[in-house]
Amino acid sequence: MPLIVPIEKIQREISLLADQCVKCGLCSATCPTYKLRADENESPRGRIALAQAVAGNGIQSFDRIKHHLDNCLYCGQCETACPSGVKYTRIVDLTLDALNHSSNRLKTSKLELWGVRFISNRTENSWPKLIRTWKLLSPIFNKYLLRKLSIKSSTVNKKFNEQATIDHQSPVISKGSLSIFTGCTSHIFDQRTLADSTALLRHCGYELNIPEQQVCCGALAKHRGYSDIANNCEMKNTQAFDDSMTVPIIFSATGCGSALQQYDSQLSRRFVDINVFTKEEIDFKTLNFKPLSKKILIHTPCSQQKSIAKSKTIETLLFNIPGLEILQSDQYSSCCGAGGTHFVRSPDTAAKIREPLVNHVMKQVPDYVVSSNYSCAIHIATGLSEKNMDIPVVHPISLLWQQLDKSNIY
Ligand code: SF4
Ligand code: SF4
Repeated sequence: MPLIVPIEKIQREISLLADQCVKCGLCSATCPTYKLRADENESPRGRIALAQAVAGNGIQSFDRIKHHLDNCLYCGQCETACPSGVKYTRIVDLTLDALNHSSNRLKTSKLELWGVRFISNRTENSWPKLIRTWKLLSPIFNKYLLRKLSIKSSTVNKKFNEQATIDHQSPVISKGSLSIFTGCTSHIFDQRTLADSTALLRHCGYELNIPEQQVCCGALAKHRGYSDIANNCEMKNTQAFDDSMTVPIIFSATGCGSALQQYDSQLSRRFVDINVFTKEEIDFKTLNFKPLSKKILIHTPCSQQKSIAKSKTIETLLFNIPGLEILQSDQYSSCCGAGGTHFVRSPDTAAKIREPLVNHVMKQVPDYVVSSNYSCAIHIATGLSEKNMDIPVVHPISLLWQQLDKSNIY
């Protein structure tokens, strides 16, 4: 049964959280949409004011408010900058939820709701059949949908056609057990990372449990204002991963990870980023890596900024590959514009926000760009491809797995 929260309760929570904003505007300088448009409605402070109007039933123009909230990238840069600790993303989630409760729904909402519900309800064991159907339909998909969404089909196809399968073998010597969170659309657009992550963990001696009843993390629904669907995802995942167990649950897409780590249940503490787990738990002295005389640029997804960027986790992991040159990548501390599904919903804005990053890559000319979030990876790869730059954008774990000397069984 969907867990539906009454509108009055949502409005009360919006008011409570939004009232903590003192309207100082210190967050605006960090906000990519405000920097792009210099419009107060496109700033965190402006969006909080719109949220307060929704909470107080002061909705005059449903479309206008929804439009400004839709443009938010959920990058969280404003939360990092805010001295008052305002929970901005929670306010936007709740406000979109309140707007979705409104009888004045946008015409497109029904289609969106169907799509969000469809993806969020898919269990792990339903993906192989769906992928087979998707492959049959991919000519239509490429011709109409991708063109409409301004996504380069070659970029998506490259990801889609990577025939990576997850290996279900047990390790030669068991070092312990781990559960794997696979995600939803990563089955379609990032099979390579899933396969490489599980292969690396197995090679290092871990027995992997991939529960068949797990579903999407819920971020897709939550950030589109469908809290009932998001709550359902949390409930199903709590059952699928059996809350009485204590083994870590590894995720490889940081966008999903930040949603999983915000679950209300005890489960949230068990989710661990594959990069963090690999750095902290795997004994690199027992592994050999083949040299790779290439230059790489590290893209830091917004969802990683607060967690692992400061500890230089990715750099530490990749330093294990002899000969790899890590280029200076300060530019990458800003949002790439992907913003979960934002690059699909607002491709023009997303492309403008991406522009400085693409220009930076073009100046540095690396052999690889690494990113731990697949929507960022697709968005950056599309930008590079539009400039005729054939630079692979890969997950750091894929690069490690590619260079690992597999003859040395753990
Ligand atoms: S989450 Fe990012 S895009 Fe949204 S208001 Fe904050 S800084 Fe701006
Ligand atoms: S969200 Fe924080 S930084 Fe931004 S205006 Fe409000 S109090 Fe100031």
